[in-house]
Amino acid sequence: MKRARKRVLITGGAGFLGSHLCERLLAEGEEVICLDNFFTGSRDNIRHLLPHPHFEVIRHDVTQPIQLEVDEIYNLACPASPVHYQHNPVQTVRTSVHGAINLLELAKRLGARIFQASTSEVYGDPAVHPQTENYRGNVNPIGIRACYDEGKRCAETLFFDYHRQDGVDIRVARIFNTYGPRMHPNDGRVVSNFIVQALQGEAITLYGDGRQTRSFCYVDDLIDGIIRLMRAPDGITGPVNLGNPTEFTIRELAEEVTRQTASRAGYVLRPLPQDDPMQRCPDITLARSLLGWQPEVPLEAGLRRTIAYFAETLGLRVPEPALLRVVAGR
Ligand code: NAD
Ligand code: UDP
Repeated sequence: MKRARKRVLITGGAGFLGSHLCERLLAEGEEVICLDNFFTGSRDNIRHLLPHPHFEVIRHDVTQPIQLEVDEIYNLACPASPVHYQHNPVQTVRTSVHGAINLLELAKRLGARIFQASTSEVYGDPAVHPQTENYRGNVNPIGIRACYDEGKRCAETLFFDYHRQDGVDIRVARIFNTYGPRMHPNDGRVVSNFIVQALQGEAITLYGDGRQTRSFCYVDDLIDGIIRLMRAPDGITGPVNLGNPTEFTIRELAEEVTRQTASRAGYVLRPLPQDDPMQRCPDITLARSLLGWQPEVPLEAGLRRTIAYFAETLGLRVPEPALLRVVAGR
């Protein structure tokens, strides 16, 4: 029997990206099942959704099989920050690999379309710049980031093998660094670290000399890209890069956070972690042409919203000039 509204499973739905996706799909009238083991996710991220009549939460680990009746699956379950994914690297590999098998089996049984949150980390420390989808990457398979990078690469392999072997309808996005409200304040990622440090009046920790680059996508833009990929016409599988193509050095990011928070604490240099990629920037030509998608929120505006979020949730003061800019929406 066809359901009146689509029933969607979002694994990792209590995490940073997952909670925004739950919110968006509910707002669009879909029925959402949020599945999470709450390793890095939090009930606080989805508390406001709990009263919604079409929202359901299941505590479950994707490394274990599950039987549900859904029309679509978004697989976002996996810790995403180096601090968290290196905490128990074996479990990180299991989450990506066993998780992919369990959810692909479910998708196969149901004939459901399934989305995989892959990552720019499949490119490793890239020798091609900016990264296009046909670049095969430069990953150290035995380094400390490998549990995440190789886990995600193997998950992509599984997605394409289930697609070729069993005709599973897959959508794979390679997501580049994304930031915004509901990032975990202590997960060590650069945007949350810098903002929390600056708001607390602490020096910003620059790893290496801060000349390494990243490109930062605001969460609303990313969620829009994910949904467009999921709704794109039949036959589009990806992988598709989703990220902001404007590249910044980490030092430039530190300068912008310092400016917006009016921090006077300055910077402190720390060693560059092992295998830390020196440059990263997506080529989004494919996303532009296939999905008509490109990010709209510039770093300056996205940081303002994110700083306001952290200031509020952590009970920290945003200095006057920064606050005035937030209120004025400038
Ligand atoms: P996050 O850590 O906030 O969210 C991950 C969620 O998955 C959490 O709620 C966590 O509790 C849950 N989870 C982890 N292991 C699980 C398991 N075994 N079973 C069930 N749930 C589990 O991270 P995020 O930034 O929201 O990332 C979401 C997805 O997007 C991840 O797959 C990540 O690899 C991918 N991604 C994110 C970024 C980014 O910049 N945020 C970039 C590239 C890829
Ligand atoms: N980084 C930094 N200071 C911090 C946290 C991170 O200089 O307090 C750097 C880190 O070395 C990397 C970049 O910022 O070069 C992005 O780090 P993040 O962990 O956010 O993401 P990823 O390395 O996975 O892209």
